[in-house]
Amino acid sequence: MKCSKLISLFLTIFAVLPLCSCGEKKASATELAMDTVINLTVYGKRCDEALQAGLDEIRRIDAMMNAHSEDSEIARLNSIGIGEEAELSDETVYVMKKALELCEKTDGAFDISIKPLSDLWDIGADEPRVPSEEEIDMALSKIGYRDIKINGNRVSFAKEGMQIDLGAVVKGYCADRIVEIFRSYGIKNALIDLGGNIYALGKNENGGDWRIGLQAPQEMRGEPFAVENLSDKTAVASGSYERYFESDGKIYHHILDPETGYPADSGLISVTVIGKSSLEADMLSTAIFVMGCEEFDKIAGEFDFEKYIAVDKSNKVITYER
Ligand code: AMP
Ligand code: MG
Repeated sequence: MKCSKLISLFLTIFAVLPLCSCGEKKASATELAMDTVINLTVYGKRCDEALQAGLDEIRRIDAMMNAHSEDSEIARLNSIGIGEEAELSDETVYVMKKALELCEKTDGAFDISIKPLSDLWDIGADEPRVPSEEEIDMALSKIGYRDIKINGNRVSFAKEGMQIDLGAVVKGYCADRIVEIFRSYGIKNALIDLGGNIYALGKNENGGDWRIGLQAPQEMRGEPFAVENLSDKTAVASGSYERYFESDGKIYHHILDPETGYPADSGLISVTVIGKSSLEADMLSTAIFVMGCEEFDKIAGEFDFEKYIAVDKSNKVITYER
């Protein structure tokens, strides 16, 4: 099958930055990390130290939880066979348990054991292709969060070939950790942007709320369909236009439906979740994208978020507010 390569990495939400300055000391950095472009902007007396500590934290968490780096805890876990177990850190177990709660509540629409399927589609790779039905069935047989067993810090798999991927969770956890670190340096105002995963702390340079643009899914990058004013809140987006490829005129994106084995087709093309916990918002944006609004709204009351804004294929905007 001939694939026309059209892989893209869009920032699905972005800061609309003010022009003038309040005179507070400022430090900022842009780096490639966690497979995306990250940008930290910090204001305050100890902004240089805080910025460095924030960047170090991103590297630390990535080295621990990135399923695709060879010596991470998750890579170590993914290398075990049936009857074996991996001893993981408290932190990795904490993130896994949080994610597993969502797997349970969404009845597997969100599933961190998705890796055999995401590896098969390999949507971020150089030569992505549409797998055969047999390949998809084989990958699906290795998926099922209920077969992940956690006993204290020891984790094992009850199914051959299982592997986990915390790609839908880690940036959210990381953003929350950076907020804690910044606060420990006395920082009140900052913008943490982990590529479509934003935490807006305090106020912007003009003393107003941070203005976060939501990318219009079918417009040029940087073209928002709405702007949210945020202070001490996170906004996390999942979209089918973030990473994808085109084959025979059809778009295949990176958020997969563990039931069908194909890219999720709930009718949505973008979901942004706003709240206080970036970990929760990160997981939920992915889950809502897979489930669709109607299904998710039935269980929405169980989660810790303030609002979501979804866009469907006909560009209709659907907003849910608590
Ligand atoms: P996000 O961009 O936060 O929506 O996360 C997308 C990433 O999560 C993908 O690149 C996969 O690594 C992983 N993923 C894809 N589909 C699912 C799913 N149904 N449940 C959990 N993780 C998924
Ligand atoms: Mg996510």
